[in-house]
Amino acid sequence: MKSHLLPTYARADLAFERGEGAWLVSTAGERYLDFTAGVAVNVLGHAHPQLVAALTEQAQKIWHVSNLFRIPEAERLAERLCRESFADTVFFANSGAEALECSIKMARKFHAVQGRPERFRIVTFEGAFHGRTLATLAAGGQKKYLEGFGPVTEGFDQVAFGDFDAAKRAVGDATAAILIEPVMGEGGVRVVPPQFLKALRELCNQRGLLLMFDEVQTGVGRTGELFAYQRSGIVPDIMALAKALGGGFPVGACLATADAAQGMTAGTHGSTFGGNPLAMSVGNAVLDVVLARGFLENVRKMSLRLKQRLAELKDRFPSVIEEVRGEGLLLGLKAAVPNGDLVKELRAEKLLAVAAGDNVVRLLPPLIIGEAEVIEALGMIERACSRLASTASKEKAAV
Ligand SMILES: *Cc1c(COP(=O)(O)O)cnc(C)c1O
Repeated sequence: MKSHLLPTYARADLAFERGEGAWLVSTAGERYLDFTAGVAVNVLGHAHPQLVAALTEQAQKIWHVSNLFRIPEAERLAERLCRESFADTVFFANSGAEALECSIKMARKFHAVQGRPERFRIVTFEGAFHGRTLATLAAGGQKKYLEGFGPVTEGFDQVAFGDFDAAKRAVGDATAAILIEPVMGEGGVRVVPPQFLKALRELCNQRGLLLMFDEVQTGVGRTGELFAYQRSGIVPDIMALAKALGGGFPVGACLATADAAQGMTAGTHGSTFGGNPLAMSVGNAVLDVVLARGFLENVRKMSLRLKQRLAELKDRFPSVIEEVRGEGLLLGLKAAVPNGDLVKELRAEKLLAVAAGDNVVRLLPPLIIGEAEVIEALGMIERACSRLASTASKEKAAV
């Protein structure tokens, strides 16, 4: 059948009818264990009763009023996000890229309103992913995504991942900020060491720069802390959130200190849909669950279980898994075979996983998983590895 969807995605030939917790049921009636969670979005799994209740309740009251008026649900969500973080103020958007657009504009405006409009450049890191708008593509700096889309948006200086000296050298009189993912997600689940983040904080302090964290993938519990920066002992000035924040309802947010946000006065930025009552009600319900006692502890516990057993599988199948990476339930298997092959073998076992850069397969289960799902997933991974290992050894024997 010819599809009328713009063919920008390499989709698997698989569609789902419904979901229950960590499980998805395909239109063909098959059950899959979902370790994609809609790419780190469905933190509470599928059809979580509290999210369903929040959305349906709000749907019967009011959907959308625009930002011409106050939105009490948004005020409440902003207040809670600030209470749980370093931030004083929140701008709500509809996606990760939009949250970063706000962050980038805020950093530039911060310097402009202090009489230094020439400070607009932002230092970023190779392999980063910040979204698909023209500015966030320039920030990510990946050639394959920029090609053919005209002049690259000015103002981003990219340095090698983990190279502090290069970052320091890249800072000049025109630098406004440094932007980094505390754990690089799309780039291959590469964890940035806390010492590196601390060094960036010091550099920003010395040079009067803003430190911006892209926590679109790591934020709201994914790493076992509410925010990944909380592992580092330092705080950013600006932070972008999205994916998990709405548990599947589209929403993004730019959080900032009052100082960093000083230039963002009435009229300087906006969004028609941003912070609408549906998204805000669901966001508040996500926080109700994630902030409940024991929730993040479960994430850390399941992470440890998975990591220990995955390390064993790596030792048993070195021709398939080269390395196990990640924090919390943002886990990566650096594959010794093409990562797409491993994703396919896992899918044959009815386990859904996501490919990432650096030949990595991401395991992104919903944060509600328990012991039973972990055991089931490990069995599936073991069988997939075993099949791939025997193919690899046959190929070797044939050469
Ligand atoms: C997904 C992602 C984005 C982009 O989010 P969209 O909602 O697709 O615009 C930006 N940064 C990071 C770290 C992401 O993982």
